[in-house]
Amino acid sequence: MKILVINCGSSSLKFQLIDSDSEQVICKGLCERIGIDGSRIVYTPEGKDKITIETPMPDHNKAIELVIEALTNKENGVVSLDEIGAVGHRIVHGGEKFTKSVVINDEVIKAIEDVSDLAPLHNPANLIGIKACQKAMPGVPMVAVFDTAFHQTMPENAYLYGLHYSYYEKYGIRRYGFHGTSHSYVSKRAAEILGKDIKDLKLIVCHLGNGASISAVKNGECVDTSMGLTPLEGLIMGTRTGDIDPSVVEFIMKKENLSVAEVNNVLNKKSGVFGLSNELSSDFRDLEDGYVAGNAGAKRAVDAFSYRVVKYIGAYTAAMGGVDAICFTAGVGENSGFVRKIICDGLGFIGASVNDEANTVRGKEQIISSADSKVTLMVVPTNEELAIARDTYALCK
Ligand code: ADP
Repeated sequence: MKILVINCGSSSLKFQLIDSDSEQVICKGLCERIGIDGSRIVYTPEGKDKITIETPMPDHNKAIELVIEALTNKENGVVSLDEIGAVGHRIVHGGEKFTKSVVINDEVIKAIEDVSDLAPLHNPANLIGIKACQKAMPGVPMVAVFDTAFHQTMPENAYLYGLHYSYYEKYGIRRYGFHGTSHSYVSKRAAEILGKDIKDLKLIVCHLGNGASISAVKNGECVDTSMGLTPLEGLIMGTRTGDIDPSVVEFIMKKENLSVAEVNNVLNKKSGVFGLSNELSSDFRDLEDGYVAGNAGAKRAVDAFSYRVVKYIGAYTAAMGGVDAICFTAGVGENSGFVRKIICDGLGFIGASVNDEANTVRGKEQIISSADSKVTLMVVPTNEELAIARDTYALCK
């Protein structure tokens, strides 16, 4: 079966067409600047060069039309429309309602709408993507795969904040966690690589990308994760603060005379390694170059980022009563031996030691710990689209 995977944002839409038998990507691409001047679709059919078409895209319906046209046109198309057996949608927030992927029906759409105030930027965009696909492909089954679902196994003591309990009861304020599809995929893959049953393993997954999160996966279930009610909590990220004292927010608002929206922008877009490096960059390739060249801001940012990861690894080792393997994934985790080395050098307290030669790996599955390391350190590239396609196939075959 050919599965179309859709990741729909407010002004962009990423897609991949995946063959469920071979698990190969047949075509992948991106619609950019939907509803904004200068919109375009960029895609790469399997075995062909990248194609870019600049064309107006006033809304997501038009974007989906263009995606279908790209996939099915006579010249460069890869399938006929009736070959697309199902569509898998990435949905950011499933609240407490969704603990696993589900086939989309009216009730599911209503439930996604109901939790939209927990992710006001993301869920409405995800819903627009679902509705546009339903319109363009009537009768084709669709599946919702939630970023939060994998983390729903967290125990109450891990997901509750130290707030008055009524806020949880009234508004559902608690830790939800994100990147769940990635944490789930990487932990399962790590168990396969180690040749062990995931039910016998204590794993820590470090998803270090532009957005970054870390999770403790004990016996195959998530028992804690660093992102919270929103993706702002936890690790220091590309441009997001991660953990800070909540009083800082009021303090900055008063000092700089900022509105709620403005301070939110500071916390989400002007902070993290970008802010710590005095706006040198949010991209770890630039920060690594800066660090090596002796730039103080780059060093400060990377060291603070790495220290936070080490601190969470310590906390999650305590939470699970030990750790068997630590997995690095996403843009930084998969590609930056430099950052991995700084992090791993901080893990002597659990008997972990890194093999410097193995640690030069980029974007490939690889064990990077030395033979005498008490904890396995490994690079496991994530594949959220494949995980979405697998769930979609399992529910629609
Ligand atoms: P997201 O999906 O959150 O946007 P990714 O997982 O794609 O993020 O990670 C993107 C980040 O990965 C980039 O901002 C960059 O910092 C980092 N990155 C990508 N390639 C490399 C590399 N070769 N070396 C260091 N960092 C890299």
